[in-house]
Amino acid sequence: MSIAIELLARQINILKVTQKVHSTMSKKHKEFYLRQQLNAIKEELGERDDSSHEDDDITDLTKRIKEAGLSPEANKAAQRELKRLKRMHSTQAEYQVVRTYLEWLSEIPWSKSTSEIIDIDKARQQLEDDHYGLESVKKRILEYLAVLKLKGDLKGPILCLLGPPGVGKTSLGKSIASALGRKFHRISLGGVRDEAEIRGHRRTYIGAMPGLIAQGLKRVGVNNPIFLLDEIDKVGHLSNHGDPSAALLEVLDPEQNNTFNDHYLNVPLDLSKVLFIATANQVDTIPAPLLDRMELINIPGYTFEEKINIAQRHLLPKQITNHGLSLDDVKMLDEVLLKIASGYTREAGVRNFEREIASVCRAKAVEYANAKDKNELENYNNEVTAKEIENILGVTKFDSEVAERAARPGVVTGLAWTSSGSGGILFIEATQMAGKGDLQLTGKLGEVIRESARIALSWVRAHAFQLGITTSKTEPTFFFQRDVHIHFPAGAIGKDGPSAGVALTIALVSLFTHRQVPTTTAMTGEITLRGQVLPVGGIKEKIIGAHRAGIKKVILPARNRKDVEGDVPVNVKNEINFVYANNIFDVLLGAFEGEKIWSDSTPIVEFESRL
Ligand code: ADP
Repeated sequence: MSIAIELLARQINILKVTQKVHSTMSKKHKEFYLRQQLNAIKEELGERDDSSHEDDDITDLTKRIKEAGLSPEANKAAQRELKRLKRMHSTQAEYQVVRTYLEWLSEIPWSKSTSEIIDIDKARQQLEDDHYGLESVKKRILEYLAVLKLKGDLKGPILCLLGPPGVGKTSLGKSIASALGRKFHRISLGGVRDEAEIRGHRRTYIGAMPGLIAQGLKRVGVNNPIFLLDEIDKVGHLSNHGDPSAALLEVLDPEQNNTFNDHYLNVPLDLSKVLFIATANQVDTIPAPLLDRMELINIPGYTFEEKINIAQRHLLPKQITNHGLSLDDVKMLDEVLLKIASGYTREAGVRNFEREIASVCRAKAVEYANAKDKNELENYNNEVTAKEIENILGVTKFDSEVAERAARPGVVTGLAWTSSGSGGILFIEATQMAGKGDLQLTGKLGEVIRESARIALSWVRAHAFQLGITTSKTEPTFFFQRDVHIHFPAGAIGKDGPSAGVALTIALVSLFTHRQVPTTTAMTGEITLRGQVLPVGGIKEKIIGAHRAGIKKVILPARNRKDVEGDVPVNVKNEINFVYANNIFDVLLGAFEGEKIWSDSTPIVEFESRL
C-alpha cells in the first residue's frame, strides 16, 4: 500500500513539472506570437522602427550644414529646423519638407567662390578667339571690365546685350565668364509671369521651391558666378501674381541685392558678388526701371560676308569636330557657304546657319565612315560642292526675296524691323476696285500703321490732280467710285509702327498712276499729312536686312543720314544706293527712277466755291 502511495506521489510530481514547463512554454510562445503580430501591424501602418536610420540622416545633414559655412541668419534658421526635425518621426509628411529645406540651405554656396583676376589682355584674347567681328561690342565689353577692375566692386550698371536671336549674345557672356574665371549660368526669363518664379514660393505652399536665382546659385555652387539674364525684355510685368520685374529690380540693385530675400529660403541671400549680364531682343519692352539700371550694347545682325567669315572660322570647325571628324575632312568654299546662308536661312543671326552646316557635317561624317569601312578612303572627297548641298539639304528654301518678284503697279518694297530685333524687307500691295470710297487694310496691322495708311491716302487724294491721277482739279467722283485695299503679306505676322508711311504713299501713287517701282528699291520713313518725311528707328538693322535681301536702292528720311553714315558696315554701304528724302516728292523721284511725275505749276488742291 505504501509503495502504491509513493508511486502515485512521484507520478503527481512528474505531472506538476510538465505542467510548469508547459505553462512557461506557452507564455513564451504567446509572447512570440504577439510580437510577430505587432510587427506585422506596424509594418502595415508604415511605422517600422527606423530610429537608427533617422539618426544617421540628421547627423549627415548637420555635418553638411556645418561644412556649408552658412551666413549667421541662415545658420540660425538651420539650427531651429534641425531641432524640429529631431523631434519628428521620419514618417511624418512634415519631416520631408523640413529635410528638403535643410538640404537647400546646405547646398547654397554661402561662402564658396572662385578666385577672380580681371586681366584685360586675357579677356581681349578670349573675346577675339571666340568671336569674329563685333569690334565695337568687344571694345565696349573690355571698357566695362576695365572699369570693374578699377572700381573693385560690381556697383555699376548692368551690361545688356541687345540684338536679334543668334548673333552671339549668349556666347559673348560665356566668353566673359571664361576670361574672368567665373562660372556661367543662363537664366531664361522669357515668359516668366510670376514673381515666385524669381524669388520662390513660401514654404507653406505645397511643393514650394526656391526661385530661379537661388536655383542658379545651387547649380553653379559658387557665390560669384556670371548670371546671364536671358531675354529680359520678355519678362511679364504687372502680372496677377506679383510683379516679376520688381523682383528682378531687387536682384539687380546693388543697394539691396546683398540681402535678397528668396521666399522659400526665407533668409537673406547675398548676390553682391554675382556679375549679372542681361540680353534682350528689343529695347521697347524692357520695363523702364530695369532699363534705367542697364548699359545697352547693340548687336545689329550680320551681313552675308560676316556670316561666311564666322562660318569659316568658328561654326564650321566647331561642327566638324562635333561630328567626330578632323578639320581636313570637310572643306567648304565661301560660295558654298553663301549658298547655304542665302538659300536655306533667313535670319539676322547665325543660329539656323549653324544648324544647316551641322546637317552637312553629319552627311559628310556618314560618307567618311562608309568609305572607311570599305577601305576606300581614297575615294572620299572632303570638298563639299554646291551640288552636294542640294542633295543634302534639299531644294533651296528661300530665293532671293526680291529677285523672284516682278514689279507691278501698286506693289512697293518697305523696310521692317521685327519684334525679334532683326530687320528685313516687307511688301506692300495696293489694289483698287469699283466701290464707294472705302479703304480696306489687312495683314494683322496695328493702330499706328492703319493711321499711316489713312494719311497716305489723304495725301494722295489731296495731290491727285498734281500727280496726274485725276484730270481736273476737283474730280470728286474718282475716289468715290472705287475702294482701295492695302495688304501687307505675311498676314500672320503682326505689324505696327509709323515707318511704313512713305512706302504706303508710294504704293498708292504707283497704283493710281500705273507706274512701277523696281522691286530692288526699298523705302522707310514716317510721313505727315503735309508730305514731310520724318526719321524712324532701327535703320542699321533695316539696311543690313535689306542688303541681305538683295536690295540695291534704299530711300530713307534725310534725318536718318547720320545712322547710315555712323552705323552701317562699309561693304553694305558700298553696295546700296541711298536716297535721302525730306519730303514725299524726294521719295517720288527716288522711287520712279528720277522721273518727275508731278506738275509744279498746279496748286496742290483747289476748292471751288459752289455758291
Ligand atoms: P544669341 O544668344 O544672341 O541668341 P548665341 O550666342 O546662342 O546667340 O549664338 C548662336 C551661335 O552662333 C553660337 O554657336 C555662337 O557661338 C555663334 N556666333 C554668333 N556670333 C558669332 C561671332 N561673331 N563669331 C563666332 N561665332 C558666333
